[in-house]
Amino acid sequence: MILDTSKYTGLCECGRTHELRTKLVVCEAGALQKFDKYMQDCGLSGFSTIIYDTNTYNLPGVTRPAAGQEIVLDAAGLHSEKGLIENMMKDFVRKPDYVVAVGGGTIMDFGRYSAYQLGIPFVAVPTIVSSDGFTANICSIIIDGQKKSIPMLAPDAVICDLNVVSSAPEFLTVAGVQDILAKYISIADWKIASLVTGEYFCPRVCAMAQEALDIMAGCAEELRRGEKPDHERLAYAQMLSGLTMQILSNSRAASGAEHLIAHLVEMKPRGFENAHGLHGECVGVGTVICAEEYHRLAMNETIETKPFEPLDRQWVEYVFGSMTDGIMKENENDVLMTVDTEKLRNCWPEIRRIISEIPSADEIRTLFKEIGAKYTLSDLGIDESLGREVLKISAAIRNRMTLCRLERLIVE
Ligand SMILES: [Zn+2]
Ligand SMILES: [Zn+2]
Repeated sequence: MILDTSKYTGLCECGRTHELRTKLVVCEAGALQKFDKYMQDCGLSGFSTIIYDTNTYNLPGVTRPAAGQEIVLDAAGLHSEKGLIENMMKDFVRKPDYVVAVGGGTIMDFGRYSAYQLGIPFVAVPTIVSSDGFTANICSIIIDGQKKSIPMLAPDAVICDLNVVSSAPEFLTVAGVQDILAKYISIADWKIASLVTGEYFCPRVCAMAQEALDIMAGCAEELRRGEKPDHERLAYAQMLSGLTMQILSNSRAASGAEHLIAHLVEMKPRGFENAHGLHGECVGVGTVICAEEYHRLAMNETIETKPFEPLDRQWVEYVFGSMTDGIMKENENDVLMTVDTEKLRNCWPEIRRIISEIPSADEIRTLFKEIGAKYTLSDLGIDESLGREVLKISAAIRNRMTLCRLERLIVE
């Protein structure tokens, strides 16, 4: 499958003109054998520096493209840190015309960041496709000891060889499925936010996210029936999801209230001390909890609202401890202040309709159980007694409008 990204670009009914740096996305068996042709197709030529790690260099199925220079990083302890990437760049024998990164998320960051620093194009060759980061234009790296998601170059091309990615272990595939099924919630959150506050909404990008979700729901159903994963469609859905982030320059279409639990697992506030899990696994559990909560709210035919109140610092201190100042700062200009509560009440029937498109928590739980995915808080090492409190905690860490956040304006 070759994805021509130009169909997503240009003037859109949302009023914006959309651009994508990524011109070509290839997901096919043997794609690496045609690497040179694909580079020509996107106008890339000259001296290339290809970055591997010791695992991806020797991976079965990998056909190594001809390179001006090959760099093979030691996979042991490799992580995305600015200093490590800059050290690698000292080994460049010359400034390349483009950089190619062969591997998973960490290697991508090495390619992306170095190409960005040098002002040259970057090509992604994923060796696993359990995340949607390949076609996105953000980079999560450690700068001065702090993990930061920073805007960064998107790849000019993504060449995904199905002979390579199909050897990924099943638990990674399953986590990747969960990361995309999260869109049941993230799409609903985006629609609700747009409805209540007039937040920017793009039907074209939403349709892309919906397509990724529909494809992944189909793949999940096949896994449930015990069929072999369809890596072409799995990869396609991930690529599409990443492109929504590249168009918007943010993750609005891909990440809603459900995604925040994955961040909490890294941040480790009270109740999360022993939390662990892959990104997709955490997000999957978040999806179940949000589906439960959203359907619970939707049982009310009407709602009563209450005026906005800022987050209670004492509660924040109790939960977040030393992170309190950061959390208070994040919530300084709380998006809830922009909500007209009368409008929220009036929008309720439409909000209920949006929620009705989300499968029930039971359906999602059963699916996850049957495909061997994680689906409970305790699966992630989180105290079950936290229950719905998890949503309150997660809504506090990001000042983005979600139905979870809006609950602070709704009388129980
Ligand atoms: Zn995600
Ligand atoms: Zn648009």
